[in-house]
Amino acid sequence: MMPFPAPEPYDPTTDPLPTPPDNHYSSSRLERVLRRGWFAVTAELNPPDSADPMDVLKAAEPLRDVADAINATDASGANCHMSSMGICSILSRVGLGVVLQISCRDRNRIAIQGDVLGAAAMGVGNILCLTGDGVGVGDQPGAKPVFDFDSVSLLRALKTMRDENTFLSGRKLTTSPRIFLGAAENPCVPPYEWRANRLKKKVRAGADFIQTNYVYDVDSFRRFMVKVRDMGLHEDAFILVGVGPIGSPKTARWMRANVPGIHIPDALIERLERAEKPGLEGKKICIELVQQIREIEGVAGIHVMAYRREHLVGEIIEETGVLKDRIAENSLQAPATGKDAS
Ligand SMILES: Cc1cc2nc3c(=O)[nH]c(=O)nc-3n(C[C@H](O)[C@H](O)[C@H](O)COP(=O)(O)OP(=O)(O)OC[C@H]3O[C@@H](n4cnc5c(N)ncnc54)[C@H](O)[C@@H]3O)c2cc1C
Repeated sequence: MMPFPAPEPYDPTTDPLPTPPDNHYSSSRLERVLRRGWFAVTAELNPPDSADPMDVLKAAEPLRDVADAINATDASGANCHMSSMGICSILSRVGLGVVLQISCRDRNRIAIQGDVLGAAAMGVGNILCLTGDGVGVGDQPGAKPVFDFDSVSLLRALKTMRDENTFLSGRKLTTSPRIFLGAAENPCVPPYEWRANRLKKKVRAGADFIQTNYVYDVDSFRRFMVKVRDMGLHEDAFILVGVGPIGSPKTARWMRANVPGIHIPDALIERLERAEKPGLEGKKICIELVQQIREIEGVAGIHVMAYRREHLVGEIIEETGVLKDRIAENSLQAPATGKDAS
């Protein structure tokens, strides 16, 4: 039996907007965890190709107890799935913290600004601003790309809505969206020189947190972080590093060849090839990567993307011990749950 109740119909009259704590942009659990200095964990949900809300709740089940927020992707890889807005609506109604991902590929500034007000009204506290993958890489290459914004101009627009209480046009908002703003980065692929500078633009435009693509090459990521620290970006934005268990050498090779923004070193693929149980080895590698990454100065947390291996997320978090400090400090002081936990 599912431990979640089926989502109730939304009733704004009994569901008031939470007030953010002092010096916070949002009421999100993720923002509170990060500002408190705890190592944060976010996790990506594999979006269903389905109109059944229970499919979303089932996918969230292995992530709910270990993630400070669950990311709802926006047609990543330019492939159609349930929308990020739909997923956030279902998860926020059962009190889970979410990150609404917005790609600029499919909607213009009129649609996106309206979506952001709607999302904030539903209790979504975190938004990840992406340019998004181009239509050419997806399963509908004939779709018309929009790209009215890119990630940087999207961040600026949402920061304007939040901090200046206006639409981009200058028209006043009655209530501004209380949102913690994020951006993505690909730290381990060329052009390396350009990566930290691109990150700087995103941080200057308003990114409060960063979620990176999968990091399988820790040396390359360390070099990226040297530049990030030289620019002081880790002091202006919380950096969460993308990790995930790979199931087999075949998957690793496929990811390296087909998923933009990822570098998987030969040595890692060879290790999977030599393993008796590649699935277990993939999990072990992921745990080792987390242990190395968490020691790097300027890293504020991890973003777990365990595509079709979500059942391993709890074990990975448990075995890395990344939540232990927080439990030791005082788990009872953890951020509030329920509506306040978005
Ligand atoms: C955690 C995470 C989640 C993601 N989720 C999604 C999702 O839900 N939906 C989706 O469609 N995609 C998603 N992506 C893919 C993402 O859009 C691409 O990885 C993108 O290349 C990097 O992020 P961005 O969108 O912020 O791109 P940006 O950094 O804004 O760049 C966009 C593209 O244009 C190029 N570019 C931009 N400006 C310049 C310039 N001045 N000179 C040269 N090249 C330039 C970049 O190389 C890149 O290919 C995700 C990526 C990550 C890391």
